[in-house]
Amino acid sequence: MVTDIQAKHGNKPFTEKIAELLYLQAPISNSAILAVALLYYLILRDYLPVSLQFVWPSLMLFSAVIRLLLWYFKKHTPERYSATQWIRLYTLATAVTGLAWTSILFFPYIHADVILYAALIIIVFAVTASAVAILAVHIPAFLVYIIPILSGFIIKLSIINFQEYFLLILSVFLYAFMMTLFARNTHKHITRSITLENHNQTLINELQDEVAQRESLIKARTEELEQSNQALASSERLLNNVINGAELGYWDHNLKTGEHTVNNHWLKMLGLTRSDMANDVSDWETRIHPEDKERLNSIVEKAISDHKPYSADFRMKHKDGHWVWIQGSGSVVEYDKQTGEPLRLCGTHQDITYRKNIEMKLDYQAKHDYLTGLNNRVEVEKHFKDELLRTERYNHNLSIFMIDIDHFKRINDHYGHQAGDNVLKLFADFLLSSVRTSDYVARYGGEEFVVILPETGRTKAIELAERLRLKISRQDIELEQTTVNITISLGIASYPEHGNNYEKLLEMADNAMYQAKHKGRNRVEVAA
Ligand code: GH3
Ligand code: MG
Ligand code: MG
Repeated sequence: MVTDIQAKHGNKPFTEKIAELLYLQAPISNSAILAVALLYYLILRDYLPVSLQFVWPSLMLFSAVIRLLLWYFKKHTPERYSATQWIRLYTLATAVTGLAWTSILFFPYIHADVILYAALIIIVFAVTASAVAILAVHIPAFLVYIIPILSGFIIKLSIINFQEYFLLILSVFLYAFMMTLFARNTHKHITRSITLENHNQTLINELQDEVAQRESLIKARTEELEQSNQALASSERLLNNVINGAELGYWDHNLKTGEHTVNNHWLKMLGLTRSDMANDVSDWETRIHPEDKERLNSIVEKAISDHKPYSADFRMKHKDGHWVWIQGSGSVVEYDKQTGEPLRLCGTHQDITYRKNIEMKLDYQAKHDYLTGLNNRVEVEKHFKDELLRTERYNHNLSIFMIDIDHFKRINDHYGHQAGDNVLKLFADFLLSSVRTSDYVARYGGEEFVVILPETGRTKAIELAERLRLKISRQDIELEQTTVNITISLGIASYPEHGNNYEKLLEMADNAMYQAKHKGRNRVEVAA
């Protein structure tokens, strides 16, 4: 597992660490060995056979140079050898050093001097002891170094006098054993600390990875947040531009707290300032036209319960007192997640007074005669049908007059078209002022008028018709230059005797009017 983690995080494998520890001690230990070897050479030179005088320093130098070269290669061209190869070569060179040390134990003049004994014993014990410190990192190197020296020493003692030196040989064995144990222990410590170091490094790497991951996550989140903040700000700007550009009043109503907020344009529409408004819904409710309030409330309530947006036209009071037509749209934008209860209602208000006025004007024009201001033929039909329904429901009577001005063409011909128009206007006023307010007067066509008389039976209708006919025939109609007199022919049809629908009753009244014409004009005729 440790190896996996090492590989994942690029830790140095165990072998490389060993190679590195050997590498680190190489320059000092080899320089020291060369220095000690030189001193020994100077001490022993005179005692050494000629052959060894050359071979021993050469071997010593050769092995030390090899190890220094290996050190040099690793430092400058680390890719030259793999860690395993490098350790093998270094171990081999170490073995050569060990053999070199061993070789001097066998020179023949060894008995010559007590100092030489001391020197040789120092070699055996000091060199092997120092190997514990230097080579314990790699046990094979340690062994190939000390085994030749110690075994050489034992062999040498055995050759001299085995029995005499038996105890010394035994102690050397024990020493070798102890050295190896030391080296093994030291090796264990080193490997444990390498493993620990690797493990720690792995943990550090993992932590660094984690930190880097978190940092990049935080960075990404921050960027995301910045982007969404920017997007939000730009969509808010866009929304504001749209709302301002469309001259929309915006409102936001908290259904829980009753809090009600509006934008500046909303205030402007009603000529208000912020200080004129409490942020409370009742404040704007009081500004709604009494005639529109109930309708608007029911529309809004329905929209809330149906979970649908609404749109409605209504009037609100301007600060100076006049009514502003508003087109309001809105919908619930927030519901309680648990209960589904609506929490927030938002929407827009738009001033549609101008459009509404035009609409109302067009509507008026569509329903009224431009000249007399009376309702036109289209409206008569609608009004008549409503009236007939009421009449039927309450079992009442109803009569209808069809009136045509006699010889109207002559007025146009004598006094001009303008005078004719004035006569039509004045006749309309005459009719309106002569019938009850509940009666309905309309201009049916050119000089033809219709009067609908609710709750009026045939007899009463004839009375009224006669009164009208007589009254107009006697009335001077004042024109700019002159006065004129007109007469009318009037046809009457009554519900239910002459028909029970609009078309029939109108036809009957029209026929009766033609009868009146036929019979000499300035007459009242009842449908037959
Ligand atoms: P009658 O007694 O048979 O009804 O004769 P009349 O001349 O009244 O009837 P006619 O149908 O021949 O002519 C109706 C005239 O009413 C013709 C038309 O020029 C005139 N007239 C219709 N509408 C208007 C209007 O809006 N203004 C004016 N000045 N004249 C109109
Ligand atoms: Mg006519
Ligand atoms: Mg006429």
